[in-house]
Amino acid sequence: MNYKNPDEHGYYGEFGGAFIPEMLYPNIEELQKNYLQIIESEDFQAEYQDLLTNYVGRATPLYFAKNLSQKYNTQIYLKREDLNHTGAHKINNALGQVLLAKRLGKTRIIAETGAGQHGVATATACALLGLECIVYMGEIDIQRQAPNVARMKMLGAEVVAVTSGSKTLKDAVNEALRDWINNPVTTHYVIGSVVGPHPFPDLVARFQSIISKEIREQLKEKIGRENPDYVIACVGGGSNAAGTFYHFVEEKEVKIIAAEAGGLGVDSGKSAATTFLGTLGVLHGSKSLVMQTEDGQVIEPHSISAGLDYPGIGPFHAHLFKEKRAEFFSINDNEALKCAFELTRLEGIIPALESSHALAVLDKKKFNENDIVVICLSGRGDKDMETYLKNL
Ligand SMILES: *Cc1c(COP(=O)(O)O)cnc(C)c1O
Repeated sequence: MNYKNPDEHGYYGEFGGAFIPEMLYPNIEELQKNYLQIIESEDFQAEYQDLLTNYVGRATPLYFAKNLSQKYNTQIYLKREDLNHTGAHKINNALGQVLLAKRLGKTRIIAETGAGQHGVATATACALLGLECIVYMGEIDIQRQAPNVARMKMLGAEVVAVTSGSKTLKDAVNEALRDWINNPVTTHYVIGSVVGPHPFPDLVARFQSIISKEIREQLKEKIGRENPDYVIACVGGGSNAAGTFYHFVEEKEVKIIAAEAGGLGVDSGKSAATTFLGTLGVLHGSKSLVMQTEDGQVIEPHSISAGLDYPGIGPFHAHLFKEKRAEFFSINDNEALKCAFELTRLEGIIPALESSHALAVLDKKKFNENDIVVICLSGRGDKDMETYLKNL
């Protein structure tokens, strides 16, 4: 069984594929035909790896969190994606895709963003590499995430307010897809997670797989073996989790844990726990688990963290869930908040609210004293200070 790679049609088991309007066929086919050859070429890898090292600041540290380990009586390592340039793992993917777009001869980049982290990462890559950048963002998110809107504008991106639907992330994706249909030749759509039509889930997972590649090398150096007992990551669409799990999914002794946003509770009607609440459906171009009514209307998700506030989940993760290769936990808003404060006070690291969902697994599951537990700290908490202060 291969968990890592989709089949030639982009399926992970029964999930994935490319469900797109005819107008998008040329774009998607161009990508499907060329992406592997381009991103695996020596020339591409030389430029990409150089930027990851010297611009993004990789490798990010694998930090042994001594105080946190003491508290939970186990061996906890934090993969510090929060120390990347722009403050999260998103830049790994944004840079990769903008480099790919250049090689495809594109001059215009579009992206969607919820919390603004992916928008900032994409605007950053476009500033660096000299491409026009348009970011679609729900009107409500624009109000909630003012500092990131300011950063995007300073970086030279045009931020377009989306006023349809619930005026949040899923509506921004719809609007970006509409733009792409209208500008198929000049434009590349930089999707921010392991979602969307094939080949995006695989493309984004490959760019994020640097996370688990480094974890293996760093563990080997620190403890003499490449495999931990557990890897843990939060899942919105699932890109930091896909990167954290990628080189471990075929390693049977490594247990994999995903943390979803429970919101106010899975039964509260205000949740984003897709594996608990979702059913088979098509959302944004791929077949996966989707929070929807019986007649296929998408249900509005809720999470305290804008980055996890999404009614779907990437097909890679839906497959891991279905095959029970990964264990899924639903973490409520208040549980994530508690763990954000705990990490800050114990280790002096202010995590993103999204990452705090992964930390909260420590309260849900009992680990042994000698277990090596690696948690992906997907981003830093600067953007969440307002929420944190409200809950101090
Ligand atoms: C966007 C974001 C997430 C959620 O996105 P994934 O694709 O699931 O990784 C998680 N953490 C941070 C810090 C983010 O910015």
